[in-house]
Amino acid sequence: MFDQSLTAAQEQDLNDRLAAKRDEFILPDGVIYLDGNSLGPLPHKAAARIHQTVSHEWGDGLIRSWNDAHWVDLPRKIGAKIAPLIGASPENVIMADQTSVNLFKVLSLALALRPDRKKIVTERRNFPSDNYIAEGVIKQLGQGHELIHVEDPADLHAAIDDDVAVVVLTHVNYRDGRMLDMAGLTKSAHDAGALIIWDLAHSAGATPINLAACDVDFAIGCTYKYLNGGPGAPAFLYAAGRHLSHGKQPLSGWFAHQSPFAFEADFTPAPDINQFLCGTPPVLSAAALDAALDVWEGVSLQDLRAKSLALTDYFIALIESRCPQHGLTLITPRDHGSRGSHVSFTHPDGGYAIIAALIAEGVIGDFRAPDILRFGFTPLYTSFSDVWHAVDKLTAILDNKTWDQAQFHARKVVT
Ligand SMILES: *Cc1c(COP(=O)(O)O)cnc(C)c1O
Repeated sequence: MFDQSLTAAQEQDLNDRLAAKRDEFILPDGVIYLDGNSLGPLPHKAAARIHQTVSHEWGDGLIRSWNDAHWVDLPRKIGAKIAPLIGASPENVIMADQTSVNLFKVLSLALALRPDRKKIVTERRNFPSDNYIAEGVIKQLGQGHELIHVEDPADLHAAIDDDVAVVVLTHVNYRDGRMLDMAGLTKSAHDAGALIIWDLAHSAGATPINLAACDVDFAIGCTYKYLNGGPGAPAFLYAAGRHLSHGKQPLSGWFAHQSPFAFEADFTPAPDINQFLCGTPPVLSAAALDAALDVWEGVSLQDLRAKSLALTDYFIALIESRCPQHGLTLITPRDHGSRGSHVSFTHPDGGYAIIAALIAEGVIGDFRAPDILRFGFTPLYTSFSDVWHAVDKLTAILDNKTWDQAQFHARKVVT
């Protein structure tokens, strides 16, 4: 039996090499934040930078700031800061648009690169937006492509046959936190002559990723989750060097042109990663994100991963020993190699209400329909004591059934 005392949690905090990073975030008093996998908290540096950008760069500098404050360089500069977190070279990563839009671009391009093949392989459990976009691309092309929804992740390798043009997968599943084998599945795709696109929304900033070593074709991902860029912060896009020669992504806006300010009559794609831009970058959001990414300075991704696994192991063990009889079922893999940085349980009837009752107690997790309670563990600012207090509150809510009150059952729009 492991030591379940608060003192034991506090001792782990004393040995935590990332503990000092917590001071770089603004975390409200009385809140235990276990939802950084959905919206990262505000870094002090981002708050200061937004103020600077609004009042000085925009307020005083006006349009001159596109050059003087280097606004025009933000997509590449931010791409270069994300690159080491995903195992990429700076010239292969750019900040642009939203994850959904970036998927549209790279999937359209990838299908154009495999014109004789008609199958796209994905998972039924994939984040719905990714599958909606894939369906949209298929309709738009009108060439009879077929989206294959693999039901069980164990069947993915077998589904990737010689008719497959593109495989679109999310590295860490948004519901159960299962991590797929990026190296193995990328190899399967390539062995079958297909291309692969990885969505890193729930893994960038949560676990080490090595796109270059895995030889991935394209990747996309969010910056407002584990990268703490702020609500609706722009996304990122990775393209392998061999895919920078095509210049064929379909959203060929002026920022994707080789010289946007030449205002030429015809489109000539940029020869580099800029070809994946579309229109004018959102400077205010980009400035916040640029500053938020500085939090990663000096962070070892190995330390990050070790702490992530320790936090999730600890959470699972505490829940299972303190509230075994309340109907919570773990759906996150116990195997470290298949686990991201969030943990999910299902509950037969109280999922939404239990989370609502927990939030009322200052512990913020989230609910994912139809029955999932989801908790994110973000090693930069989550402590072992946080985990202990969160489980303590959850246990009390379950023991006393406080969640079963009308106020906690009323659903809000965003869950
Ligand atoms: C959060 C998430 C997205 C979000 O996409 P947006 O276009 O930024 O809204 C996409 N894919 C996955 C897997 C996600 O978890």
